Amino acid sequence: MIIEPKIRGFICTTAHPVGCAAEVDREIAIARDRGRVDDGPRTVLVIGSSMGYGLATRIEAAFGAGAATLGVQYERPAAGKRTATAGWYNSAAFERRAREAGLWAHTINGDAFSQEVKQEAIDRLREVGPVDLVVYSLAAPRRTMPDGRVVKSVLKPIGETYRNKTVLVETGQIETVEIEPISEPSEIDDTVTVMGGEDWSWWIEALDEAGLLATGCTTVAYSYIGPELTFPIYRHGTIGHAKAHLEATAHALDQRLATRHQGRAFVSVNKAVVTQSSSAIPVVPLYISILFRVMQEMGLHEGCIEQAVRLFTDRLYTGQPVPVDEEQRIRLDDWEMRPDVQQAVNALWERVDEASLEEVADLDTYRADFLRLFGFGIEGVDYQADVDPNFGGVEEPA
Ligand code: NAD
Repeated sequence: MIIEPKIRGFICTTAHPVGCAAEVDREIAIARDRGRVDDGPRTVLVIGSSMGYGLATRIEAAFGAGAATLGVQYERPAAGKRTATAGWYNSAAFERRAREAGLWAHTINGDAFSQEVKQEAIDRLREVGPVDLVVYSLAAPRRTMPDGRVVKSVLKPIGETYRNKTVLVETGQIETVEIEPISEPSEIDDTVTVMGGEDWSWWIEALDEAGLLATGCTTVAYSYIGPELTFPIYRHGTIGHAKAHLEATAHALDQRLATRHQGRAFVSVNKAVVTQSSSAIPVVPLYISILFRVMQEMGLHEGCIEQAVRLFTDRLYTGQPVPVDEEQRIRLDDWEMRPDVQQAVNALWERVDEASLEEVADLDTYRADFLRLFGFGIEGVDYQADVDPNFGGVEEPA
């Protein structure tokens, strides 16, 4: 069938297998070219491995460091005329390239929060030996607890209604968005349950008990801080509480790993990029569009794969102590948060309206990145060609 993008708000309900495979190849080429590390990890587990930061980290682990990788994802295969999700195609394409390169690669499709998936991961890892690196890159809207209770995370401010500018990405219309604060404290607790560090530490405990943590192992979970203009909805909102919990978990895990395995645990604060998760947060697409313009002009622009390359080559595997901030966090958002970058973004934020949008923001790059997440708009891919949605993204790109 001919597969076209079907966009509903901030979601695209279709994905293109050949386009997704081509995008995976683009990231692989960057990892091979710039991401080489000699003393990197040999076996890597990535939880949330099919999209965004998790996918890029898996690609860097395999094609930059030559690691065996186990990925965990929650994706949907194709059914009849319905395409699979982009993450499904991405992982299929990744696995094929990894095997071609002689690298062990396996992906578990299921709920990372569940005990069953943890057990499956342990069983699989017995084939390749203990892990040197565990990356926790889940972005999940809900978590099913062991007793079957479903807990939902919310993106809400705390205390006051948040008002700010936002862009409707499809039309370029600028509106004021109003987000009501939480109505009950349990909304904070629930968001912490889903996006905080508890499940990360359950993974580490399960691997430790199974004897699958290598001496000197590292674990990293991803976080975001961002600019003041998003503080009420992000850093000081419900999700910020979850990220604070993730950071506290890193400290606890660091002690555990240091004592038992001479290991380390970090939170890495990454930069804002276009992913399925970030596009769902009001205000963020407009901020990212302005940020892109500023960072591109300063020669500082990066996507997920460039961040993953820097994580490996400039932070984790340099042979030197890992550079961290005063709260022991790795800062890959260092360029985004540079005072000159933030000042330039703030000045443009004040000015941005529908008339100035094209001049002050790079909405075209935002839109192109968004479409690319689903395998659309990629050079060299014939979108008029008939493709089998069940093909699994392993077709050779043109
Ligand atoms: P994403 O939406 O691109 O990917 C999320 C991944 O999680 C996918 O692989 C998905 O399959 C997997 N997943 C979701 N629920 C799952 C479940 N129950 N079981 C197994 N897998 C599941 O997300 P992203 O934007 O790359 O975010 C990953 C992490 O990076 C998050 O912690 C996020 O806060 C952080 N981060 C994101 C940004 C950004 O701008 N996007 C910036 C800094 C930090």
